[in-house]
This record gives sequence, C-alpha cells and structure tokens, in this order.
Amino acid sequence: MSEPYSQGLHEVADGCHAYLQANGSWGWSNAGLVVGDGASLLVDTLFDLRLTQRMLDAMSSITLASPIAQVVNTHANGDHCFGNVLVGDAEIIATSATAHEMAEVPPSLLAGLNSAPGEVGDMFRSFFGEFHFDGIELRLPDRTFDGRTDLEVGGRLVELIEVGPAHTQGDTLAYLPDAKTIFTGDILFIGGTPIVWAGPLSNWIAACDLMLGMDVDVVVPGHGPVTDKTGVASVRDYLAFVDDEAGRRQAAGVDAWEATREIAAEISARADFGSLGEFGRIAVNVDTVYRHLDPAYTSLGIVEQFKRMAELEAGDSLR
Ligand SMILES: [Zn+2]
Repeated sequence: MSEPYSQGLHEVADGCHAYLQANGSWGWSNAGLVVGDGASLLVDTLFDLRLTQRMLDAMSSITLASPIAQVVNTHANGDHCFGNVLVGDAEIIATSATAHEMAEVPPSLLAGLNSAPGEVGDMFRSFFGEFHFDGIELRLPDRTFDGRTDLEVGGRLVELIEVGPAHTQGDTLAYLPDAKTIFTGDILFIGGTPIVWAGPLSNWIAACDLMLGMDVDVVVPGHGPVTDKTGVASVRDYLAFVDDEAGRRQAAGVDAWEATREIAAEISARADFGSLGEFGRIAVNVDTVYRHLDPAYTSLGIVEQFKRMAELEAGDSLR
C-alpha cells in the first residue's frame, strides 16, 4: 500500500479510515472508523484520554454527520480500550473473552506501575512513561459475542470475527466486505514484532491464513503502517518460525530462557525478521510456546517478562 505512515486520519477505502499513531511501538496503536449513512463504527479507542480525545477531534468533521453509534474493542489491551469512556452513549461491543480480560487489567494497575519507585517503576516508565493512566475510568463492553457476529453501520455490513485466543484471550477482526478492507487489531504488527501473550501460536497462524483467504485489498494493523496481504504473510512467517524453533528446543529439553537467547540471535541474523522493532518480545513468545507445550511449565510473571525484553533489547544495541 502507498498510504503514508503519518500521525492522524487516513481514508484507506471508501468510507473506511485508519487513525495511525507512528511509530507503532509500545502503546502507539492504530484505530479505525467505518462511516455509513448517518452512523459510524469506531474500531478501538486509544491508550489514554488525551490521545483518544485527539483522535475523536480529528474525526469530528465526519462524525458530525455520521455520529459514532457503535465501538468495537478488538481486544483487551489498554491501548485499544482505555479511551472507551469518551465515546458517549455509543454501544461498545467485544467478545466475551475480551470483556472478561479487560476487567483484569484496569488503568489503575498501569498507573500504579508507571508511578512505582525504583527499578520496577523505571522499567515500566521506559515502556509506558509517555502515557497518562491516572484517573481513567474503564468503560466495559455493553454487548458481547462469541465466534462471529454481523453489525449494520448506516447501511453497511461489518463482520466481526473472533480469532483468539492468540495475541490476547479474545482477538477480533472487523471486516468490511463492501470495501475489501479489514481492521485486524493486534493480530497484525507491521514493522514491529508480534507479541503472543495468550497463544497458542497455531491460533494466530490460523487467523493469518483466514485473512489470506479472504477478499481483502486493504489491511489496517493494530500497530504500524497500513498494509495488504503481504503484511499478513510476513506476520505468519514470523510466528511459524518462532513456533518451530521454540517447539524443537522445548522437545530437546532446552531451558526457555536459553532457547529465547538462541532464537533471538537467529532472528537478528535474518534479513526478513532482523529489522523488526521491539525484537525482545521473543522472550514472551518463547515463554508462550513452552507454556502451551508443557502444562507443568511455570510461566514468567509480567515484571520478569518486561525485564527480559528490556535485557534482550539492551544487549542488542551493539548489533
Ligand atoms: Zn496494541
């Protein structure tokens, strides 16, 4: 796609807009706006109220005539739902798995970590210090679904397709057949490394295969520039590589952190994945593969996960 990767609202297909936040790294998510006759659908809100209000202001010339009647949260990560309270009386829709997960990580938890003293606070601030979580009241979905559901937005059909658990417990794709456009949430990271919090990786690979088989020209990822099926294929390739490499080491009895460092070194040397941002996420991805292969495996806590990602990326600075 030739759509420039610049901050703000881009019409990527007829009545389909991507709201992009470069550079797409931690917390800098994209959102979408589908405009029908007299009503719009917002795909995701942003990480804090300031960012979400700025987005809604950028959309206001459109939403004056076609107000936002519905909001889909593609998944429960805060950079896709913490701004929900700003959408007025629009109906908020998500999968039941997403609604459940959303309640587990409230903004107050991230506010606490971002203001924590010492090493843990410093580390979280290095990832999320630019965002303002204090005082955010999280608005949970009004309506939930499982599997698939169709929405009608001002005369247009929007298909919501649950493909999780993958990135999180309940990831959703929003597909506009009339515009051959799909909003993928964090099922796609373009230019950055996918992070598999939930898994299994096979579910995420299946989601990529599903999209590759659909009638789609325009693909709006959760992070990074607008793409097409080539972006879907590249994410699929990364996930299949990690699933194979980690699975092989797990079967051979290699320790997960040892496996992570070995695979990280392999990725660094590759032309295709070696330049992806946030490459330390391999630590979470290998941990997820191990957890799914061995029920007795004890997964790392969230603080330890971030420590390992930071350590890998610090070590990578000499690359
Ligand atoms: Zn995200």
